[in-house]
Amino acid sequence: MDERSSNLWNRCLHAIQEKIQDQSFETWFAPITAQQFTSEEAILKVPERIYADWLEQNYIGLIKTTIQEVFTWNPRISFTVGDTHQQMAPPVTQGPEFMHGAPLDSVSAAPSLHPGPVQPVFPLNPRYRFDNFVVGDSNEVSFSAAKATAELPGQTAFNPLVLYSGVGLGKTHLLQAIGAYCIEMGTAQRVVYVTAQQFLTDYLEGINRGTTSNFYQTYRQADVLLVDDIQYYVKTEGCQREFIHTFNALFQADKQIIISSDRPPSHLKGFEDRLISRFQWGLVTNIEAPDLPTRVAILMQKAEEMGVSLSHEIASFLAEQINTNIRELEGALKRLIAFTKLQRYPLTIETARKTLLSPPQKTKPTITIEGIQKAAAHFFEIPLDKLVGTTRKQDVATARHVSMYLSKSLTGAPLKTIGLQFGNRDHSTVIHACRRIESKISADPEFEHLVSELQDHIVG
Ligand code: ADP
Ligand code: MG
Repeated sequence: MDERSSNLWNRCLHAIQEKIQDQSFETWFAPITAQQFTSEEAILKVPERIYADWLEQNYIGLIKTTIQEVFTWNPRISFTVGDTHQQMAPPVTQGPEFMHGAPLDSVSAAPSLHPGPVQPVFPLNPRYRFDNFVVGDSNEVSFSAAKATAELPGQTAFNPLVLYSGVGLGKTHLLQAIGAYCIEMGTAQRVVYVTAQQFLTDYLEGINRGTTSNFYQTYRQADVLLVDDIQYYVKTEGCQREFIHTFNALFQADKQIIISSDRPPSHLKGFEDRLISRFQWGLVTNIEAPDLPTRVAILMQKAEEMGVSLSHEIASFLAEQINTNIRELEGALKRLIAFTKLQRYPLTIETARKTLLSPPQKTKPTITIEGIQKAAAHFFEIPLDKLVGTTRKQDVATARHVSMYLSKSLTGAPLKTIGLQFGNRDHSTVIHACRRIESKISADPEFEHLVSELQDHIVG
């Protein structure tokens, strides 16, 4: 590695650091060094094969756009595995070393290992409980099995318990309900809920920082391990091996393992046979799409949770119209309720029909570029003239880019018009801004949240 390549790459790293969450940056980017970095070719060195796979799958777009932005280069990018050394300054935030996927039960949070408060990144959502899970033909088996494992974790034949279904049919709800039940009823001490992706990130972070013992403490000593969305687990050899080790350790100690998946284990692609066969040792059950009576019951349940009294008639009407998945059903109900509250319409079938038929924006005043600028200035607390002005200060520029991006996506105005209204800028500046924001949104969930919050303000 020559010094020039290293300096050039470091500039990109700093730009990337601005765009993504600290934790992702520390895990995936901080260990990368540049073996070669020119306008033609970027050879990036990573400590293990898995980094290359993960970066290829998740971050290649971000790397490309960043190099483009920083140097206007479009080099071929490849990865090589080898010894790397830390080039960046140490992470700015030095919170507890290993805070996520941590045991949810604070009593058992192994204080000697975790100085400072342990804050699981994925705490259990209190909305997901057994007692508000509506049981019908479509999910009865899964529900009973879930309840049985929560009552006697590790002691039933359902180990592991694998729940699979399409999106929005209740996997996460059931997994978290198991966790909540175990903690509440004291049937298990250490309950760990984690998405498969997070499990992987924790594992690699452990390797990176030399804190694998924390990783083992968290996962291999769980009484109940709940792994959500296993289909997103990265299937390289090392990672599968790690999963098998964790699985074996828990299984041999009669600890409970529960896994969710969007397809049956036999259809999981790229997983080793020995892992798939382990998934089938216990019980594999499917949650099907709910039938009409179950959909009606779910709507009634959700309305009650929202403190709204919903007639059976309206629930039936909605449930007949929407039979895709429960998340959408819930969305339709929320829209209906928002509509009746905002527009003061009565909660009737007529109103329900209206909200289903008319997309929300039709009832709203038209959105203008000017309106977006005003809303953004207010939202980011930046004077309007600065927002459309020429300041290059980072926060002002970002606010400006977001405003341009929203102007494009919400008004559909021509880029030229948008450029004109933002201090007479060229249309290519607008394109550039939109790309930046798009890549930032896809790389950084917090940023995505921020933009959608502003969008909600604008759309009303
Ligand atoms: P998945 O993880 O399968 O994509 P979720 O568990 O996130 O689905 O469920 C989507 C939404 O539907 C959640 O708000 C959840 O509470 C709700 N839901 C799913 N199944 C049921 C059910 N049987 N009873 C009540 N709510 C349900
Ligand atoms: Mg889910």
